[in-house]
Amino acid sequence: MRKIAADTHAHTIASGHAYSTIKEMAKAARDKGLAGMALTEHAPKMPGTCHRFYFENLKVIPRNMDGVELFFGAELNIMDEKGTLDLPDGLLKELDIVIASIHGPCYGKSRSREENTKAYLNVMQNPYVDIIGHPDDGRFPVCYEDLVKGAKESGKLLEVNNSSLRPNGFRENARENIREMLKYCEKYGACVTFGSDAHVDVDAGNFCYIEQIIDELQFPEELIATTSVEKLKTYLHHFR
Ligand SMILES: [Zn+2]
Ligand SMILES: [Zn+2]
Repeated sequence: MRKIAADTHAHTIASGHAYSTIKEMAKAARDKGLAGMALTEHAPKMPGTCHRFYFENLKVIPRNMDGVELFFGAELNIMDEKGTLDLPDGLLKELDIVIASIHGPCYGKSRSREENTKAYLNVMQNPYVDIIGHPDDGRFPVCYEDLVKGAKESGKLLEVNNSSLRPNGFRENARENIREMLKYCEKYGACVTFGSDAHVDVDAGNFCYIEQIIDELQFPEELIATTSVEKLKTYLHHFR
C-alpha cells in the first residue's frame, strides 16, 4: 500500500478565498496521518490575497505543530509567456516551498499552446521555483511532452492536483490532461508531487481523486516525491 507523507499545496484564510487557519490546517494534517504539510498562499497578484509582507514574515512561525512538519511558501502567479512571477527572487529564496501556477485572473486566457508551454519552460529556469502547480487545465493547453522533459531537465516537480479532479471542478479536461502528463512522466522518469490544493481544513491531505488515477495507470511509486518528507526535501531549493 502506497503511503503519501506530505501535502505540498494548500491555502489558509490568508489567501482571501480559503477558510481555515494555520493551526486548523496543521491539526487536519495530523488527523490524516501526514508527516508534512505545506501552506502555499496565493502570491500578491491574485485578487484578495495577502500582501508581500505576509511572505516576508513567515520566518516567525514554528515549523512544527501537532507533530507535523510545516512548510511555508507561496503559490506564485505566472503572469505571461515569458514566465514573469509576482514575488521577487530574493524573497522566494527564503521560502520553504515555491509553486508556480497559471491562474486566469492573472495570466489571461487567450494564449496558444506554444505560448503556455513556453511560459512553464521559462518558469523552470528560476532556481527558486520547486513545483509547477496544476498544469492540467484545458483552458490553458500545454504540450505535455515538452513540459515533462523540461521538468526532468530542470529538476522541478510537476503537481498532480486533487482539486482539479473534483467532479464539480472548474478546470477543463483535467483528468485526461493529468493522465497524459503522467504517461510522459513515466516515459522520461520525471517526478510528481501530490497537492490537495485544500482551501478548507477538511480537504488537507485529500488525494482521493489522484489515488484513483495513480492506481489505474499503475504509476511507479519511485516517481512520487512525497512518499517521505526526506525525499520531498531533496526537491525543495530551500533544503538543498
Ligand atoms: Zn492554483
Ligand atoms: Zn492553490
